[in-house]
Amino acid sequence: MPNIRVSALFRPLSLKEKFEHGDSVSIRAIDTESFIFKDEKEEEIKFHFDRVFFQGSQQADIYELLALPIVKGVVDGVNGAIITYGQTGAGKTYSMEGPGIIGCNEEQKGLLPRVVDGLFNAIKLSDDMTRYTIKLSMISISDSAEALRSLSSGIANRAVGETQMNMASSRSHCIYIFLIQQELKNEKRYGKLILVDLAGSEKAERTGAEGRVLEEAKTINKSLSALGNVINALGSPGKGNHIPYRDSKLTRILQDALGGNSQTALLCCCSPSPSNASESLSTLRFGARAK
Ligand code: ADP
Ligand code: MG
Repeated sequence: MPNIRVSALFRPLSLKEKFEHGDSVSIRAIDTESFIFKDEKEEEIKFHFDRVFFQGSQQADIYELLALPIVKGVVDGVNGAIITYGQTGAGKTYSMEGPGIIGCNEEQKGLLPRVVDGLFNAIKLSDDMTRYTIKLSMISISDSAEALRSLSSGIANRAVGETQMNMASSRSHCIYIFLIQQELKNEKRYGKLILVDLAGSEKAERTGAEGRVLEEAKTINKSLSALGNVINALGSPGKGNHIPYRDSKLTRILQDALGGNSQTALLCCCSPSPSNASESLSTLRFGARAK
């Protein structure tokens, strides 16, 4: 059985949503796994996920429920992937990094700095006989502070473009690859952990983009639907078991951290506001399809 856990996350209302649109939260919680969502026509749709993080959820809880089991697995040689999905402004990067990966307060720290700490802690707790080496993308790294410095400069170099949605919209997927090598009595084992902060999932037309930027947006949409197809195929083993990893660069990169005995967490990030209902609905449907 594939091991994919799908969660939904609703960030707090933004000031713009609250004061410009006069919005109020349009999600009604049922329990920690389900809620009622109102679509654009005010029709109520019930959703059920492995876990729902409503407004006011703690970053620490998201890490513990979503990422910690995967981090523990990786140290034992089980590959894993943690993916944030959703429209621009939905809270993907905030969940992944927090307000910044170095120097933000403990409570606001996102998944990435917690994963780095978690990896080094798990290694510290393991038996003394095993030697561990951690590689982050192409850089060999020796401690958590160094890893965070490297990550921080990588993030600063990430291409960002403005769209009509009036915020820094990431025009690219941001992928962090950790390779953990375990060595015991000349026997080597590898665990790979991939964190992916996906590019915004909004429809290409809605971004108001033209020309090259529109083409980029279409490519992004294509790779996201390829990811959806892979996750969907993994969840339906009956379909002749063809998993279309080769349909996009993104799914090729993710191939050995998705499927097999890998553990995957998909966090579907949404605005809680009625003014974003149609994009939130498409994000929730993407997540529901992945289960
Ligand atoms: P995305 O990466 O999906 O485009 P961001 O993570 O950049 O979206 O979030 C958009 C805005 O909402 C940012 O200003 C961010 O600080 C804020 N935000 C997102 N999630 C939260 C949260 N859980 N708590 C407080 N603010 C948040
Ligand atoms: Mg972002």
